[in-house]
Amino acid sequence: MILTFYNELFSQHRLALAAAAAILGLFIGSFLNVVGIRLPRGQSVVKPPSHCPSCKHRLAILDLVPVFSYIVLRGKCRYCKIRFSPLYALVEALTAVVFGFAAWHFGWTPELAAALTLAALLIAAALGDLLYRIIPNRLVYFGVFVGVLLRILIQPLPLWNYAAALLIGFGLLYTVAVAGERLLRKESMGGGDIKLFAMLGLYLGIGNVLLALFLASLFGLLAGIVAIRARRDQADRYIPFGPFIALGAYAAYVWGDAIISGYTSLLGWR
Ligand SMILES: [Zn+2]
Repeated sequence: MILTFYNELFSQHRLALAAAAAILGLFIGSFLNVVGIRLPRGQSVVKPPSHCPSCKHRLAILDLVPVFSYIVLRGKCRYCKIRFSPLYALVEALTAVVFGFAAWHFGWTPELAAALTLAALLIAAALGDLLYRIIPNRLVYFGVFVGVLLRILIQPLPLWNYAAALLIGFGLLYTVAVAGERLLRKESMGGGDIKLFAMLGLYLGIGNVLLALFLASLFGLLAGIVAIRARRDQADRYIPFGPFIALGAYAAYVWGDAIISGYTSLLGWR
């Protein structure tokens, strides 16, 4: 009964679907903060319950309401008044925006499940890389596990395409990493990036995972140029690649087919 209600509401009213997805995104975003902070340090994501990192006071339900609690408490701990980083509220807001956008773009379709899962995985990976320069193995393995299940159930492309894309994503990044290490004589890419691309293959398929690598490299290169110009003294400062992989991968996932078909028709291939 209630299921048919939601089914009709969401299939006919895309705005209602996008709003519901955005609200879901706020709470998933709040959980992604916990994942992004704890997983790279090898801690459990469920225990202990959320607490203030300074006074260790356990946070009440009201303190955990995403974004709004940050605004109401003006970014401070209710108990010891220490300032929280705005990063966490930003992650919650970003997740809400991406979830709302994905729902608007994909509509009430099975693939929306993959779209929301991928968004959550990429935000957590980018956050872990930003904070600790680690894309946690447990996050990627979880993403592969869910990705396999999703692709058994939902396949816009043939199943073999996703399986091949997983191997290609891994092989390509592994090759780039080995070549980079030989040429630059230092580690240019972490193992986390390599595994993340294998996972991406499951969600994106062959064509779009290649496009994702291209876009991620392009965004990373542009940011690198900006960073070098901004501070010449620290030219070889490490820039985490994770956020650019996340950006490139999601752009390829959403617009990849349009980009690839536009490009091939531009070249007169079709
Ligand atoms: Zn506190």
